[in-house]
Amino acid sequence: MFSIGLTGGIGSGKSQVAQWLGQWGASVIDTDEIARDLTRPGGQAMAALRQAFGEVAVAADGGLDRAWMRAHAFADPAARQRLEAIVHPLIEQAVQRQAAQAGGAYVVYVVPLLVETGRWRQRVDRVCVVDCDPDTQVRRVGARSGLTPEAIGRIMSAQAPRETRLAAADDVIINDGATSLDALRQQSWHFHQSWARLASQRLVRDIPKIGSSV
Ligand code: ADP
Repeated sequence: MFSIGLTGGIGSGKSQVAQWLGQWGASVIDTDEIARDLTRPGGQAMAALRQAFGEVAVAADGGLDRAWMRAHAFADPAARQRLEAIVHPLIEQAVQRQAAQAGGAYVVYVVPLLVETGRWRQRVDRVCVVDCDPDTQVRRVGARSGLTPEAIGRIMSAQAPRETRLAAADDVIINDGATSLDALRQQSWHFHQSWARLASQRLVRDIPKIGSSV
């Protein structure tokens, strides 16, 4: 199935764009949402995380203590590796399950660290970057989450810089501080139409010609 990898730094507007694409008929597979599901109370990753990190990693409700995990993973690369070794294979399984069931015009994989992982770049037909300036990212994420600018800065410094992400893009949606939600929606609509067209051309190409086979 024709596939788009949708990426961008934290607060760039990926989730917003993906929501519209889904409404317009794409199948959206959101790896961040899958990760949140796995680490909810009773989530599939919780038993292994509890065993690896102990009760300190578990919040009062039985889900992952995200603030603790974030601080711990940033401070200790080995802890980050252990976290990823538990969570990544489970994300991969869920992605494959959802991809097998995907209908729709085309599939959109929302992957925050797509540019950072070569595997994802090979997997998708096109990479679309939602581009945003760092000051606006800090402002949006602060308003959404209440995280301090320092905490947001630490998350951003673990992500690829803006230029690296742009260099990997086939398509760019601009969503900087001067972009209204309406302008974001219009750009998203433009790309949706062109991807749906590419997806249908691909379908036509893949149908065997009548009489060409046994
Ligand atoms: P991401 O998924 O990349 O982290 P989101 O799509 O969640 O980013 O966007 C971050 C926040 O900023 C959300 O609350 C979203 O509604 C808001 N937002 C994104 N783009 C705009 C925009 N152009 N104008 C106003 N608010 C925006």
